[in-house]
Amino acid sequence: MAKPSAMPALFREAEKVIPSGVNSPVRAFRGVGGTPVFVRRAKGAFLWDEDGKRYLDFCASWGPMILGHAPAGLLTRLRREIKNGTSFGAATVKEVHLAKAIRAFVPSMEKTRLVSSGTEAVMSAVRLARGFTGRKKIVKLDGGYHGHADSMLVQAGSGGATFGIPDSAGVPEELARLTISIPFNDVEALEKVFREQGKEIAAFILEPVPANMGVVPPAAGYLEEAREITARHGALLIFDEVITGFRLNAGGAQKVYGVKPDLTCLGKILGGGLPLAAFGGREEIMDKLAPQGPVYQAGTLSGNPLAVGAALWMLERLSTGPHKKLNRMATTFFKDIRAVIENRNLPLTLNTSGSMFTLFFTKESVTDYRSAKTSNAKHYARFFHECLSRGVYLAPSQFEANFISTAHSYTHLENALEVFEEALSQVFP
Ligand code: PMP
Repeated sequence: MAKPSAMPALFREAEKVIPSGVNSPVRAFRGVGGTPVFVRRAKGAFLWDEDGKRYLDFCASWGPMILGHAPAGLLTRLRREIKNGTSFGAATVKEVHLAKAIRAFVPSMEKTRLVSSGTEAVMSAVRLARGFTGRKKIVKLDGGYHGHADSMLVQAGSGGATFGIPDSAGVPEELARLTISIPFNDVEALEKVFREQGKEIAAFILEPVPANMGVVPPAAGYLEEAREITARHGALLIFDEVITGFRLNAGGAQKVYGVKPDLTCLGKILGGGLPLAAFGGREEIMDKLAPQGPVYQAGTLSGNPLAVGAALWMLERLSTGPHKKLNRMATTFFKDIRAVIENRNLPLTLNTSGSMFTLFFTKESVTDYRSAKTSNAKHYARFFHECLSRGVYLAPSQFEANFISTAHSYTHLENALEVFEEALSQVFP
């Protein structure tokens, strides 16, 4: 008989000392039920849990691990960096190198500040947009997730979508009222909000390819319209590329779609799995930051030398052009999944962008948060657990992206496809 799993007991212990047993809500598996996996280690395309069971990983730490887990070169680099110390709280030459490297990848980021999380990047960009324009209101998308800064917890995707608590307790109504949420891919809604409140709007913030309502690509022309409308009303366009940055290609969604935002937020892939994020954009806006400008923003660990070392290594590797092969492999995989859906005439919609994908359990085409929510959550939960038990780890929630990395091989993806087919035949017998 198989040894019983250590996970339920570990989770009970965790719940005694950590709220809900986890340090970030979606990890608690509430969206899919069951006991969360406690990960011991990861390498390449795989995770191993505390029972020693191996999983082919499509969650990728929620996006950062585009080169797979623990690439040897990154570990070597970190060993080298750590000999010099772990934090100085002072300027370093490497931060200058990194800001230049970021600008080479994402030219709209003329100047960049480093921070430690995507939440911090967005919070800082939003404050800067308010400080620069002298306006208070922010427009975001229904189901867009931008971290957990107060102004962004309105109609939020990701964990907010999973738990049906789009508005968090603890966010003052007075502040939440300054955040206006509109449906994605609806130019008329965007026009309307700017027509009515344009003079009060500091910025429109969006993930150019939303990934926190599941992956939902922009309709043709939507991002161009967003650029034009914001500019016409003197508001800033902020692209939250925390997921799409360095993911869709080396220059992010703004390169793919040829639309230049005023400010960009980066995170995840940038730090290669270390706590690092960035926000940047037009020089005249960025120069409003303290101490030169009046907008305050700071961080003890900002530009942490280990995280910056990891980022320099990541960007060196990404400059060698792995995206073409990665996206080609992803396209083949997605084609094979679609063939399974069509052959069996399953009520599923596969949305993809680059190497990201979300399988929605609905026949409706998913173009915004409303249509994303037509997905059958029970079916997703069943599918998730059928895959998990067969050693494939997907994002433990419907409203998330799954990611392919360069550590995935065609063989891994063929195996995953077989698992998906078996899992789907359990969901739809
Ligand atoms: N923006 C986007 C688009 C994200 O997906 C996330 C996290 N999933 C964040 C911001 C927040 O980043 P972090 O979790 O590092 O604070």
